[in-house]
Amino acid sequence: MLRRCLLLSFWLVGLASIGDKADAADEWKLIPYGGLKYVSAANVKSFYRFTELEEKGKKLIFKSPNLVMEWEINSQAIFINKVKFVLSFPVIKPTYRSIVSVVDLAKLIDPVLRPSYIKHVGKFDTVVIDAGHGAHDSGAVGVLGYEKNYCLDTALRLEKALKKRGFKTRMTRSADKFLTLGQRVQVANSVKNAIFISVHFNSSDNRLANGIETYALAPQGTTSTNGGRASGFRKGNNRDGENIALATAVHAMAMHRMGVEDRGVKRARFNVLTGINKPAILFEGGFVTHSGDARRINTAEYREKLASTVADAIVSFRKAVGGASKRR
Ligand SMILES: [Zn+2]
Repeated sequence: MLRRCLLLSFWLVGLASIGDKADAADEWKLIPYGGLKYVSAANVKSFYRFTELEEKGKKLIFKSPNLVMEWEINSQAIFINKVKFVLSFPVIKPTYRSIVSVVDLAKLIDPVLRPSYIKHVGKFDTVVIDAGHGAHDSGAVGVLGYEKNYCLDTALRLEKALKKRGFKTRMTRSADKFLTLGQRVQVANSVKNAIFISVHFNSSDNRLANGIETYALAPQGTTSTNGGRASGFRKGNNRDGENIALATAVHAMAMHRMGVEDRGVKRARFNVLTGINKPAILFEGGFVTHSGDARRINTAEYREKLASTVADAIVSFRKAVGGASKRR
C-alpha cells in the first residue's frame, strides 16, 4: 500500500523539512468573505513552498517531492498524502481564486504540516486511557457484541502496549463500570504531564458504514463535522494544535496499519473532549454495525493490532511535537 507508506514517512520525516522551509516564506494575505477570513490557494502554495499547484476541474493539487495535498471546491474533505481530513468550512471559489478559511489553515492545515511549530506542547510521560461506556451503558449494540466490552478490552491492551513503550498510564475505568462523562474528565484533569485518548467503536443505521475515524475537539467558532453531535459554540480546550497533531498521528498510523476504510480526521465537541485541559482525541476503531468491521472487531487479534498501532502513533506524536520528557 504505497499511499499509506508515503503518509507514514511524511509524518516521521517529511514534516520537519517543510517547517524549516516555510520559515522565510511569504506573508499571509487575508481575504474577507461572508463574515470569515480566508487565504488563497496560491498563498498556501507559496507559504509552504509547494513546487506545484495543479487545478483540474474542481480539484486543486499541491505538490512537493514528499508531500501531496488535495482540495476540492465546495468540499470540506481534503487529503494530505492521501489521508483524509475534514475541514470546518468548505474550500470555495467565489471569484477567480480558490480560498480556504483561516480557521482551517491555523487549526488544521498548519499544525498537520508543521507539528514542530505547535504552541503549548508540554512534556508528557503519561497517557490517560478512557474506555468508552460501561455497565448499563452498553454503547453501540453490534452484530456480535457490545461496544463497551470492545472498548474496555482495547483500552486494557493499549495500557499494556504503552507501558511496554515506557509511558505511564491511567485508566478511567478498568472494569465493566459506569462513569459519567464528567467523571472521565475529572480523572483526565487530575493527571499531570499527560495526553488523553478515549477509545470507542462506531455504529450507524446505515449498515454499509465502515472504517476508522478520529475526532479532535472542534476549534472555537466552528461547527463540528457531524452537526447533530455538536453542542453549541463552546470554547475549545485551548490545545487545538496539539489535538489535531495527535489525531493526525493516530489516524495516519491506523490507516497505514489496519487496512480499513478511511473516514477521516474529524472535529466534534463531545463532552468528554470539551472539558479536558490536555491534548485529547476520541478514536473510533470501526463499526460494530457493519458485518466486515464487526467480524474483525470481535477478534482479539484486531483489537491487539489497534492497541499497538495507537501506542506506536503516540510514540511518533511525541517525536513530531518534540514533547519527549525524561523518564524518572
Ligand atoms: Zn461510543
